[in-house]
Amino acid sequence: MTPNLRSTATAGLLAGKVVLVTGAASGIGAAAARAAAHEGAKVVLADRNAPGVEEIATHLAKSGAEVLAVTVDVSDAQSVAAMVASVAKAFGRLDAAFNNAGIGTLETRAVGNRAGDLEEDSWRRMLDVNLTGVWLCMKHEIAVMARGAAIVNMASIAGLIGLPRAAHYTAAKHGVVGLTKAAAIDYADLGIRINAICPGFVETPLTATSKAEKRAASVAKTPIGRYATAEEIAAQAIWLMSDRSGYVTGAAIAVDGGYTAA
Ligand code: NAD
Repeated sequence: MTPNLRSTATAGLLAGKVVLVTGAASGIGAAAARAAAHEGAKVVLADRNAPGVEEIATHLAKSGAEVLAVTVDVSDAQSVAAMVASVAKAFGRLDAAFNNAGIGTLETRAVGNRAGDLEEDSWRRMLDVNLTGVWLCMKHEIAVMARGAAIVNMASIAGLIGLPRAAHYTAAKHGVVGLTKAAAIDYADLGIRINAICPGFVETPLTATSKAEKRAASVAKTPIGRYATAEEIAAQAIWLMSDRSGYVTGAAIAVDGGYTAA
């Protein structure tokens, strides 16, 4: 049962902050939107899946949270500009953003492809959504942010190491880590912190289609010995968006059950 959120609006790690979450209709983004509301934030849930974000936003609103659902395609500059404009119109400010929306190899019809076998449209689609989408969101978010704001970009362990048969995904996620570090330096003196999180294998619809042998191999290589829950990844994003992480910027934090340590 969802707790009544009205009581948390004046308390909690994100009390009073306006927080934007992209990819909020599913998986890690949905978990982050729920957690942000629970921590007292006013939450903007954005996704290309309009009924999906509407449903979660309605549920959160019934629990007492102040929310706004926005339809967006993060790979489309005009759509991203309109998303941020609706946040500014509804709440007059933006304190934190979790640029989480992304796609996997299945959506680009590239499961099992070696780097050289990727089709050009698969490559471009992956980079458009998973890297350019993050940059577009940051560009428009930063324009309305003030000192004290925080951005969290979704990378992956594929932003830290190479993953087999996923060269375009790996390139995009390494790009997110590089973008995060460079932008963090650009905006440190303006008081805007920018970090990336790098999850390992997480139980979400994105990984639900993985074959049993692939899942078993991923678990076997993960020292903690299981997939993460979406909530465990969301918790890291919440902390990075909160003032508790005030001295952290330009970091790419592995939340991977020890995968990249092994
Ligand atoms: P998911 O498929 O459950 O959710 C992704 C959400 O992003 C969906 O609601 C989808 O509609 C939305 N989305 C996709 N393209 C979009 C676009 N162009 N514009 C707007 N919204 C769009 O997946 P998830 O596992 O929750 O993944 C979220 C993020 O976490 C992704 O960036 C993914 O690469 C990353 N990640 C996931 C895992 C994992 O194991 N699940 C591991 C590391 C990183």
